[in-house]
Amino acid sequence: MPDLQAVVQEIAAEMAQRPDRGEVAHYIPELARVDPQLFGIAVIDADGRAAVGGDADVPFSIQSISKVFTLTLALGMIGDRLWQRVGREPSGNPFNSIVQLERERGVPRNPFINAGAIAVTDVIASGHQPRESLGEILRFMQSLARDPTITIDGAVAASEKRTGFRNTALANYMKSFGVVEGPVDYTLGVYFHHCAIAMTCRQLATAGRYLAHSGRDPATGYSVVPAERAKRINALMLTCGHYDGSGEFAYRVGLPGKSGVGGGILAVAPGKASIAVWAPGLDAAGNSHLGRIALERLTKRMSWSIFGD
Ligand code: GLN
Repeated sequence: MPDLQAVVQEIAAEMAQRPDRGEVAHYIPELARVDPQLFGIAVIDADGRAAVGGDADVPFSIQSISKVFTLTLALGMIGDRLWQRVGREPSGNPFNSIVQLERERGVPRNPFINAGAIAVTDVIASGHQPRESLGEILRFMQSLARDPTITIDGAVAASEKRTGFRNTALANYMKSFGVVEGPVDYTLGVYFHHCAIAMTCRQLATAGRYLAHSGRDPATGYSVVPAERAKRINALMLTCGHYDGSGEFAYRVGLPGKSGVGGGILAVAPGKASIAVWAPGLDAAGNSHLGRIALERLTKRMSWSIFGD
């Protein structure tokens, strides 16, 4: 088995030099200002050893990666009743698409496209003040990452709120079918803010460990979710975690993974490691361009693909 730290260092060195960096997200003005030269990677193995490279300790906007954690929270609150509000099928459409909502009576295809994540946020926000729900999401992230300093980047949240016409349309459309139940502006406020949580690769890889270890955080022994639920969240990450790039990600990387337009990806090697990469430049589907390539290198070198060598 190759030395993990050496492999991670090699990958970080290669990624720092590559000229093809993708395009940073422009539709959220605050994200358009991030330097596309940045690259970070953190891998935490089953024994809790961290192998890190590049800008692994620089915070970035986790964006849609937060949807893995809001899904975990919403399932903890209402269990399988969640599936009356959101489906479990890949969408084959861009992350912010509205087309399927009309045909499917306002029920989004899966919890990771924007419409689905807004419906999930609505479940968490239901009956609470936005500030309380947001506090709960943030505390969950802090406890998983074992770092109380994690915060929300208010400038990113405000930037997205100001320009979030598409998400506002999705939320209103779902509200018209009763799929969003609470006040649309409350639900969207919580959604924009949880997308704007800022974390480092190291913090994110730490937070994702329960998914790699049958629902249990090996650092504390604390069961975050039952093993069956962790398995199912991983299945959704594999099939839907990269929107209409999910097939390509499974083909090349072979791990459950969730991307965000901030350029981060959280990937899970079951029983082996929790992995976070960050490279702000995106591909055409809105997934991190170099992040995916780095993960492809890593799974190949470590033989970590869930599909075999
Ligand atoms: N906050 C972003 C949005 O709603 C999340 C999208 C993403 O990361 N793919 O557009």
